[in-house]
Formats: sequence, C-alpha cells, structure tokens
Amino acid sequence: MMLRANRPIRRVAVIGAGFGGLALAIRLQAAGIATTIFEQRDKPGGRAYVYADQGFTFDGGPTVITDPTCLEEVFAAAGRNLADYVDLIPVSPFYRLLWPDGRQFDYVNDQAGLDAQIATFDPADVEGYRRFLAYSQAVFEEGYLKLGAVPFLHFSSMMKAAPQLMKLQAWRSVYSMVSHFIRDEHLREAFSFHSLLVGGNPFSTSSIYALIHALERKWGVFFPRGGTGALVQGMVRLFEELGGQMFLSTPVDEIVVTEDGRWAEAVRVKGGQSFGFDMVASNADVVHTYGQLLRGSERGRAEGARLAKARHSMSLFVLYFGTNRTWDHLQHHTVLFGPRYRGLVDEIFKGPRLPEDFSLYLHAPTVTDPSLAPAGCTAFYVLSPVPHLGRAQIDWTQEGPLYRDRILAHLEARLLPGLRDSLVTSRILDPFGFRDELSAHLGSAFSVEPILTQSAWFRPHNRDGQIANLYFTGAGTHPGAGVPGVVGSAKATAGLMLADVKTWL
Ligand SMILES: Cc1cc2nc3c(=O)[nH]c(=O)nc-3n(C[C@H](O)[C@H](O)[C@H](O)COP(=O)(O)OP(=O)(O)OC[C@H]3O[C@@H](n4cnc5c(N)ncnc54)[C@H](O)[C@@H]3O)c2cc1C
Repeated sequence: MMLRANRPIRRVAVIGAGFGGLALAIRLQAAGIATTIFEQRDKPGGRAYVYADQGFTFDGGPTVITDPTCLEEVFAAAGRNLADYVDLIPVSPFYRLLWPDGRQFDYVNDQAGLDAQIATFDPADVEGYRRFLAYSQAVFEEGYLKLGAVPFLHFSSMMKAAPQLMKLQAWRSVYSMVSHFIRDEHLREAFSFHSLLVGGNPFSTSSIYALIHALERKWGVFFPRGGTGALVQGMVRLFEELGGQMFLSTPVDEIVVTEDGRWAEAVRVKGGQSFGFDMVASNADVVHTYGQLLRGSERGRAEGARLAKARHSMSLFVLYFGTNRTWDHLQHHTVLFGPRYRGLVDEIFKGPRLPEDFSLYLHAPTVTDPSLAPAGCTAFYVLSPVPHLGRAQIDWTQEGPLYRDRILAHLEARLLPGLRDSLVTSRILDPFGFRDELSAHLGSAFSVEPILTQSAWFRPHNRDGQIANLYFTGAGTHPGAGVPGVVGSAKATAGLMLADVKTWL
C-alpha cells in the first residue's frame, strides 16, 4: 500500500481508546495496517473506564449494551467470534421505571407483557403503542440500518436522505412523536426518555432517535459478564492479538500538520516525543481535537472555534457506590422519574443552575453478575443528568458532596431503605471529571448534541474536509453517541480509511 509520497502506508495512529477508537483500531489492524492507539488515561475504555475499590467493580459509563450485532461485526472483521471473548447476558426487564406517584412500569421485550401493563395506564394506549412501535421500526430501518454506518461527507448525501427524513417527520421531537401516538403522560415519558441515553433532549432532539426503542426491541438489552469493562478488555485483547500496539498514560499533545495544512504527518505526545504516521484518527472529543491538538494549524483553530459554539449535550453527575447488603426487589436497571419531566429536562439542557429535583438512573449490576461485589454486597451507580459547564456555573468541588447526599437520601426514601448505613465506598464523577479526565468540552457527557441540525452531514465528518489523512471516530462524529453509535462511526471511518488507502495506491 502506498500513499502520496510513494511511501507505503505502514502506520496509523488512533488517539483515544474509547469504544470508537478500539473498534476502529481493530478494523484497521485486521485489514493489515499497523495501528497504534495513544490513550491518555491509565486504562482503556474512555467513558467505559472501570473503577475498582474494596472488592467492588464499577463500570464508569455504558451499562445498557444494545445491538450486539455491531460488536459481533467488529470481531468478525478480524475472523473472530465475540462470544469467545466476552459473554453477553440478556437483561430483563430492560428497565424498571418508577414514578413519584407510586406507578411502576417494567419495560420488557414481550408484547403481551407490555400490552397488559400499558392497559393499566390507559387501554387506548395499547393500540397507540403498536403504532408508535411501527413508526420506531420504520425510523430504525432508515436511520440505523441504512445510514448508521455511512459517512455523510457531502451535502448531496444529506439531500438523498432528505425525502425519507421528511416522510418520517424528522423535524418533530421524540416527545412530540411519542405523544402523537400515546396519551398517558407516564407512558409518554417511558417511551421518550431514551434519547437522554445518547445526550438528546426528548423535547428537541429529532424523532429519528425514537429508533432506539425499535433497536432495543429487536435485539434486547445485554450486560457483559464481568461488566462492560470485560467487553473493553475483550476488544483490547483482540487488538493486541492482531499485533496492534497501545500506549496507555500517553496523552497526545499535538497532531503535527504539514505547512500547507493538508496533511497530518506526526503525533506529538506530552513530554515532546513525536511519532510519524501516515494517517491519524481521533477518538478524542472533537473540540479538543481541533482546538487543542490541531492548534498549530489554521484549520484546527477555525474548526475548534466553530465547534466550541455548537450545542453540546448535557453533563452527568455519577455516583458509584458499594453497600454491605442486598435488597430483594432490586432490578439491574431502574429509572426513577422525578415530579417534573419537561421542566426538569429544560433546566438540564438550558441551565442556568442546578435543578432542585432530579430524575435518576440506578445501575445495580450485581443483580445480573454478583461477582462485581464481595459476597452479600451490592455494587451500584446512580446518575443524574445535569447542565454542562457552559450552561450553569457550578463549583462541583463544593456542590458534589452535597448533591451526593441529596441523591442518597432520595434513593433511601424511595427505593433502598437503610442505604446510608450500609455504604462501604463511594466515588463521584461530575462535569469537572468529564472535562479534566476525558478532555470533554464543557464537561459534556455525550459530545455534540444530537439535534437534526447537528446530525449526519451537519455533524463533524468522519474525515476532515481539508487535512486529507485526518479522520474521526466516536460520539462527536456521525452517527453519534452510545455504544452502537460510536461502533457504527468506527465502521464508517474504517471504510473511508481503507478506501483512501486503495485510491492512494
Ligand atoms: C455515565 C454514562 C453512561 C452511559 N451509558 C450508556 C449505556 O448504557 N449504553 C450506551 O450505549 N451508551 C452509554 N453511554 C454513552 C457511551 O458510553 C459513549 O457515547 C461512548 O462510550 C463514547 O465512546 P467514544 O468512542 O466516543 O470514546 P470515549 O469513551 O469518549 O473515549 C475517548 C478517549 O479518548 C481519550 N483522549 C482524549 N483526549 C486524548 C488525548 N489528547 N490523548 C490521548 N487520549 C485522549 C480519552 O481519555 C478517552 O479514553 C454512557 C455514557 C456515560 C458517560
């Protein structure tokens, strides 16, 4: 394989070992291109970092693993079986949803079970749900199966997709579309909150994101045995078996670009050492990549400034905690809605302060895999969406411990009696952590907000428009956040890179 200077393509750098970076690196290495990953933290995974403490294993981020086929494809690209590396355990119910008025909904993948529960909220919604599911399936076919791993480099590709997007009323919000079919407010919340899982406000993100519902119904929800970290480890193992190289605790400080600004020729790591590469792909935050890593190029400065002004997803306050007891009624995934939905979401996305109330997602992985905590103990994390650092001026060093105490008291009162007396360990990840440990612009948990005008062609592209051998993978590029999203972005980017390698022959 050769590139423009008649040099063989020998070396590709991937900056960041999140799911997008790992999936891309595996695909490239499997295609015979020597790939090196540079990761700034001491462990791979990115948002799926693992914290281990006193016998407890806490997955830092993704816990709801959907679309196992996108992961199977990554392993198949290397001629391997995902199942030989990690065991994905089906989880049911997908989520238990709880409201302050005492109502409960177990979101299961069984039509009769769903219908029976929906009817207790409003019998008319049984039929409404069927129509919503049909809509969700149509968007899933169009938006995920057809376009999820296709790079939108040219406006013409957007125009091609436009008629179908119009037909699916993609300009409407997820909540508006759900409400079109479903009458009961609890159920409207139950079927619209999913966009929050990829950083989208259900009241403003495109109804295209209603596809998440069909995606979950099609394949189910899974949890890797040993935690999401076991999936990360499986991917790292595969990458290294293929001969790939990974440097941990090695932050990239700069992507060095040729004087004409059209070619990335090296990666300089903190400490000053430079490594020459033939192609560079960034899995790091897009604003960080352009504004910081490409600060030496005009393109980087301009694009960094432009993207810094884009709308970014909310941040999260995540509390990882372990207890020395168990609770009989616990489910693996529980969503505790607060007294407000629209008003709360509005404040989370717009600020200007930390809302008084909250809606929480509680993760209790030991329900599925008790090995993640000492015998008789429970590992948890609870997350609360909060405004990012550009929307609310909060000193998290002060506020964090107070917010933690409020959340623990709330959980104790609503779901986990005796919680605070049984705490063994706890740790906080707040917007400062997203900013400082993950280099996330404004501490956003999901990067560029998935609204229609920041999706597909409007999202940062999988290949830069000027620096010909610079690529992107991960939440900030097409199709967006979430494990299936970033693994799809890696497929799109690998396709581009491998095609470029061929054209440059
Ligand atoms: C708390 C939480 C819960 C979530 N739950 C789910 C879920 O249940 N299901 C789901 O599908 N999705 C979930 N998500 C979303 C999902 O985790 C992310 O969208 C996805 O993991 C992001 O992957 P990524 O490829 O963009 O890389 P990231 O995970 O963002 O990793 C990027 C990597 O780049 C590294 N990096 C940055 N700058 C540099 C540099 N200069 N030099 C070297 N390395 C650098 C970072 O350290 C990081 O390791 C969750 C996210 C969070 C935060």
